[in-house]
Amino acid sequence: MSVTWTITQKQRLSELDAGEAADQVFSDTNERNRAFQKIEQAQVAKNKEQLQVLKDTTRRPLICEVESRLVKRLTEAGFVQVVTPVLLSRGMLSRMTITPDHPLNKQVFWVEQDRCLRPMLAPNLYHLLRDLVRLWGKPVRIFEVGPCFRKESEGAYHLNEFTMLNLVEVDDLEGRQEERLQELAALAMDAAGIKDYKLINNVCHVYGDTVDVMAGDLELGSGAWGPHRLDEQWGIVDPWVGIGFGLERLVVTLKGHQNIRRAGRSLSYLDGARLNI
Ligand code: ATP
Ligand code: MG
Repeated sequence: MSVTWTITQKQRLSELDAGEAADQVFSDTNERNRAFQKIEQAQVAKNKEQLQVLKDTTRRPLICEVESRLVKRLTEAGFVQVVTPVLLSRGMLSRMTITPDHPLNKQVFWVEQDRCLRPMLAPNLYHLLRDLVRLWGKPVRIFEVGPCFRKESEGAYHLNEFTMLNLVEVDDLEGRQEERLQELAALAMDAAGIKDYKLINNVCHVYGDTVDVMAGDLELGSGAWGPHRLDEQWGIVDPWVGIGFGLERLVVTLKGHQNIRRAGRSLSYLDGARLNI
């Protein structure tokens, strides 16, 4: 008779990022338990080593490092960093057409009757663009990096709080929007150190036509462009392109993690290493 891992063993293997062992089958429980001990010891050693490297060498989690690299490349490319509120008004959200009957609406964390934790950076960036086009003239290039919140049913690649980097460029881009999006996606991927990615055209609830940046089956970012039917709400009349990336997903891709929780804000993991070891 063959046996597989117990539920507790399976859980522990997943915590230690040894999920690839999940499908193993053994002839009896003794053999299984010996195999478990061996894998656990090896993974504990690996996680300890990662923590040691953090303490002695890198001193910053990879997600912070990736953010710094992106900020450097974007500012060098003429993008200006902006910092906007995490609390978003109901009015701003509904101007993104995320009204009560919208699918994304169920994912919103409401803090009060009329304020929520932002599920995306786009409303705030849209809001700033109008003033900045007026004050600076074209081109306007801005980006923000910061926390966003969505109620997600648990999955290996969704967090309830994650870090979005959203860049947007307003310029005379008529007819060149998709090409410009490709250039900006390439710039971000190069800065993040991700070589193996592709762009896929898609349709999304908020933006209609979008271009997704994919690493295998994992969406790293979504790009959109205007003129767009939402622009009128925000007083935008010029062509634009924008892309939003999830930084945790960039880290998952760089490190090959099997679960995004390893890369997110956590009390159980530090820079991808499990702490209860
Ligand atoms: P998905 O289809 O994977 O749920 P999405 O299309 O709803 O993602 P977007 O609104 O396009 O996500 O957000 C831009 C980027 O933000 C995504 O490409 C992804 O990298 C990241 N992101 C979105 N939601 C989450 C989440 N819950 N946890 C971690 N990252 C996320
Ligand atoms: Mg998307």
